[in-house]
Amino acid sequence: MVSASRKRVIARDGGCVGPGPHGGEGFVVDHVVPLWAGGADTDENKQTLCPACSKAKTAREASERARVRRGSGAR
Ligand SMILES: [Zn+2]
Repeated sequence: MVSASRKRVIARDGGCVGPGPHGGEGFVVDHVVPLWAGGADTDENKQTLCPACSKAKTAREASERARVRRGSGAR
């Protein structure tokens, strides 16, 4: 029930919990610890972000992930 979880998380957070600058329409429910980094797919590991904060976090994580993959010697 992805949509039920999404509604719960947005209701719990009451809006974007990102650092800003905020922007965009609507909200994105984001994994605090990404699934690829071992994060759980639970409400506790989710947060509400606006599109701008989500985009910034995704960009941060993309470079983080690239660094992790290089460091681990993974192909
Ligand atoms: Zn925001």
